Amino acid sequence: MKVFKFGGASINSIERIQNVGKILQAHKGEKILVIISAMGKTTNALEKVVDAFFEGRKDDALKLFAQVKDQHLNMLKYLTTLHWAAAEDHLKDFFTEIEWLLHDKPVREYDYYYDQIVCSGELLSTAMMSDYLNEIEVKNKWIDVRDIVRTDDNFRDANIDWAFTQQKVTDSIEPLFKDVDIVITQGFIGATDENESTTLGREGSDYSAAIFANLLNAESQTIWKDVEGVMNADPKQFADATFLDALSYNEVIEMAYYGAQVIHPKTIKPLQNKNIPLHVRCFLQPELAGTIISGKPVHNLPPIIVVKEKQVLLELSSKDFSFVGEAYVSRLYELFATIKIRPNLMQNGAISLLCCLDDRPDKIEKLALAASEIFDVQVKKELTLLTIRHYTREKYDELTKGKNILLTQRTTETVQVLMQ
Ligand code: ASP
Ligand code: MG
Repeated sequence: MKVFKFGGASINSIERIQNVGKILQAHKGEKILVIISAMGKTTNALEKVVDAFFEGRKDDALKLFAQVKDQHLNMLKYLTTLHWAAAEDHLKDFFTEIEWLLHDKPVREYDYYYDQIVCSGELLSTAMMSDYLNEIEVKNKWIDVRDIVRTDDNFRDANIDWAFTQQKVTDSIEPLFKDVDIVITQGFIGATDENESTTLGREGSDYSAAIFANLLNAESQTIWKDVEGVMNADPKQFADATFLDALSYNEVIEMAYYGAQVIHPKTIKPLQNKNIPLHVRCFLQPELAGTIISGKPVHNLPPIIVVKEKQVLLELSSKDFSFVGEAYVSRLYELFATIKIRPNLMQNGAISLLCCLDDRPDKIEKLALAASEIFDVQVKKELTLLTIRHYTREKYDELTKGKNILLTQRTTETVQVLMQ
């Protein structure tokens, strides 16, 4: 059994949906669990619906949702003929679910409504894909993942109940493969024991696929993207970015930790625990092998570059020039926990602490204010955090040339530079 994950970009046009159909046809005879994200930028569009609803702008919310509806209905017309009426009914069930809610007034917290509304993106895209596959006679079974993936009620960042989900996968998913080769379901979403929808965090579909790969003991997982595979840098920022044909699980965990936008950070562990290889392949060029990520150590990697823009440096000094000891540091960590913000880089000096964080203005303001009760606080904004794994002197010089460097941290593998 294999697990395939198709992201939003792989189904954002008629041609691309047809292309996914071709990829699945090319794997005829294999058992594949297919996880699909919401189409194109649907999740962003649905976030706007949530905002309007929560701010009490009901008409705007309905109007914005109508745009999402139309987009799906228009696509469906091109994708189905024989199965069109039934397929339209499938989509309409989900429309009704959301519209009912939008007619209410918000009485619960924002994150709850976020999940109830945003989850429809994945339900719609997978229903559409499943009906399109029926149309081209690729037999498949569509599953509402909310009946399978059980989570807690930590809305927008829900945690998986592994034991319950395992039982469901064994009882309800595995038997389906006796009748069909392809089972289609949603990434990114789950449900609580009270049948409330939940989501696993933005870009969480990679993680969903890994959960299924783990629980099904899959032979491999493939993430289909619009790039050749994993690169050593973001090709949009670096024209000379190169393709990496193999990486170890640990390298990918490190890359994700430093902010590389390759794969959702939670994806690797479930695969690593069962030694399931992860392939990252290009849906536009399925003939290419892509990148393989596995337990095999990979040596002689080129420098791997991660750039994070919009960084803030907080310089915290003790008010009385006393040493900044453990007591100060632990109070600072308590603040991080309460404000729910994580530093990207920290450095201790004798009388000051430097920390670099993503610029989330509301959180930074709160943090600076709270910290000012303990420290003298200085804030610098508009900074860039550069991380180079497997750095060389030349790469370091090239990327820091002419920059004002505020902070550097170096291990044998990795150098991080905060610069202006
Ligand atoms: N549709 C969700 C998002 O855009 C989940 C995903 O694509 O992985 O964040
Ligand atoms: Mg996505």
